[in-house]
Amino acid sequence: MRIRRLKLSGFKSFVEPSELRIEPGLTGVVGPNGCGKSNLLEAIRWVMGESSPKSMRGGGMEDVIFAGTSSRPPRSFAEVVLTGETAPIDGKREELEVVRRIERGAGSAYRVNGRDVRAKDVALIFADAATGAHSPALVSQGKIAAVIAAKPTERRAMLEEAAGIAGLHVRRKDAEQKLRATETNLARLEDIMAGLD
Ligand code: ATP
Repeated sequence: MRIRRLKLSGFKSFVEPSELRIEPGLTGVVGPNGCGKSNLLEAIRWVMGESSPKSMRGGGMEDVIFAGTSSRPPRSFAEVVLTGETAPIDGKREELEVVRRIERGAGSAYRVNGRDVRAKDVALIFADAATGAHSPALVSQGKIAAVIAAKPTERRAMLEEAAGIAGLHVRRKDAEQKLRATETNLARLEDIMAGLD
């Protein structure tokens, strides 16, 4: 997945609509303390489906909405739009626009290329694209030390993510759940049929 553009509105300190172009290659975000560097990285994770308030440095999911300052009122919603291209499939790249929006008291919703989708669909898109909210391609402050100190199993997860097979694990879990549900249904059916004999 190649991220091209990021648009933020009402997300944490990005109260005004802001748009960033992300050029090919390595991108670094620099700036004084408290200017919003980590908020930017969190915006990318959030639009990719991050669901843990803790990893967004908040107490609840609504904490990503601009909370207001002494001179500005709080916002009622936050929205992040990520535009990019998928890795080539048969030599063709697909344009992708993913939108996540949260409104106070109404929860968050996703759209992909204008269509309403579930959080699970978004997670799968990014897992297949070898990116995602926990991708090793997103390096936050302090992450480099964590990569060096990672256990072999954690390193393996990073390599699998980079190799683009993380999506297969999600699908396997899904398939296993369906298999268990079918086995339970079959057992019930056998009980019912035995009762009919
Ligand atoms: P450092 O280099 O110190 O780690 P940083 O550049 O990574 O800083 P961030 O941590 O991204 O900065 O941004 C912190 C700023 O974002 C703080 O001023 C904080 O008040 C503001 N902020 C975070 N969440 C919200 C919110 N929901 N509403 C308004 N402002 C917020």
